[in-house]
Amino acid sequence: MDKEENSYSETAVCTLCGERVKVRGLVRHLTSCRAAHPAKQGKQERTVFTLKVCGRYNPEYFLYLEMTDNMTLDDLDGFLRGTWLECCGHLSQFSIDGVSYSDSIDVEIDPSDTDVPEKRECDVELGSVLTRGMTFGYEYDFGSTTELVIKVAGVRQGYDAPLKMPIVLARNDVPKWVCADCGKPAVRVDSMMGYGIGEDNVFCATCARKREKAGECCFLNIANSPRTGVCAYE
Ligand SMILES: [Zn+2]
Ligand SMILES: [Zn+2]
Ligand SMILES: [Zn+2]
Repeated sequence: MDKEENSYSETAVCTLCGERVKVRGLVRHLTSCRAAHPAKQGKQERTVFTLKVCGRYNPEYFLYLEMTDNMTLDDLDGFLRGTWLECCGHLSQFSIDGVSYSDSIDVEIDPSDTDVPEKRECDVELGSVLTRGMTFGYEYDFGSTTELVIKVAGVRQGYDAPLKMPIVLARNDVPKWVCADCGKPAVRVDSMMGYGIGEDNVFCATCARKREKAGECCFLNIANSPRTGVCAYE
């Protein structure tokens, strides 16, 4: 049997209209689709952000999120953990314009050390830190770190009702991994080989079982997340 190629999708489904859209024109599509399918309305005018979040080293994993300006970095952190990242309650931080935003208490910092970036808590509202077109970073787990890049892909003013959770406007289709041993669809990733997921450490259930009997490995289920294959994430 010919070995299939590992493949990533260049399309994603827009959750507003249900259509499959090319990733290239996705922001444009989401902007016009939002106008055709308006958000739930509230009383107050507010700024509404469209954020594109993706893995820094595996950008085939991405989310397009809509968030209202009343929401905080804490809300985004909680959402990213729940949807994509959480394995064992590791620390996390945002880096925006040279400032680190984190809820981890760091008592070790020497205030006279100017190389240490400024630190603030994550309970800041998005409206006070985000601007159109800006890109910022996010890290989950300072040991086996998963790095994300977040771009403010769109900003609009509207009478949207304040959100409590981000709305997922689009998400990458599940990448198709193939077994490194036999070429069948892969479902398991060996977290001891390499760092995260790659062509060489994904296996079908049968080949994973064989490898488990033969030697040292640590299999996790493959997840649709930039953290798949790292630490205990599955
Ligand atoms: Zn749409
Ligand atoms: Zn972990
Ligand atoms: Zn196999």
